[in-house]
Amino acid sequence: MNLLIMGLPGAGKGTQATKIVEKFGVAHISTGDMFRAAMANQTEMGLLAKSYIDRGDLVPDEVTNGIVKERLSQKDIAEKGFLLDGYPRTIEQAYALDETLANLGIKLDGVINIDVDPSCLLERLSGRIINRKTGESFHKVFNPPVDYNEEDYYQREDDKPESVQRRLEVNIAQGEPILEHYRKAGLVTDIEGNQEIADVFADVEKAIVTLK
Ligand code: ADP
Ligand code: AMP
Repeated sequence: MNLLIMGLPGAGKGTQATKIVEKFGVAHISTGDMFRAAMANQTEMGLLAKSYIDRGDLVPDEVTNGIVKERLSQKDIAEKGFLLDGYPRTIEQAYALDETLANLGIKLDGVINIDVDPSCLLERLSGRIINRKTGESFHKVFNPPVDYNEEDYYQREDDKPESVQRRLEVNIAQGEPILEHYRKAGLVTDIEGNQEIADVFADVEKAIVTLK
């Protein structure tokens, strides 16, 4: 099964992706996670990405398309399928993905769109905490980790208020044409994202099972 998960920053993509991967065994490909790993390892690409990410801008398409193409070409993808999270984020990335998938002979089965009221996102992003070891995201109030221990978690630099506003603007502007592209292909299932995490997942699960 080959899937995309879409939604504004804070919509709950990463949270749902963890559950989808656990349930359906697909490979989780999160461009945000890949960039954060590259930043932590201070690779050349990571240092370049950091300058965009910290101020809430998108990393240039050439860089992002390159890392996704490389990952999709690895052999586990053909066996397990994938869940792309946080990509594509521009219409040009969507066209590049179409081309990459066509070249690899892979078909996209569906797009899960987590629809949320943008007014809830500031609160979600400002309370988000990330597990240092697993990279998994939690929320101080809405989804607190069991056995919470402050030093095991950090706040993302780009979840600070200075970057959040910019990220929302960028993603709202870029997101609509991408969804339209996939709607035309009949691939999109809209999911109500303003519900408890478990209820969102129940709807996501139903949508994926229907695709099978
Ligand atoms: P994204 O990957 O779309 O940016 P995350 O999955 O990291 O979003 O979720 C953003 C924040 O909102 C996290 O702190 C997460 O725990 C919290 N969150 C996710 N889903 C919900 C939900 N349905 N209700 C309340 N908070 C949520
Ligand atoms: P995310 O973890 O998905 O919220 O991504 C964090 C940041 O990484 C984004 O705000 C962008 O700066 C960068 N990023 C992630 N995915 C992409 C993408 N597909 N295109 C460009 N930049 C991206």
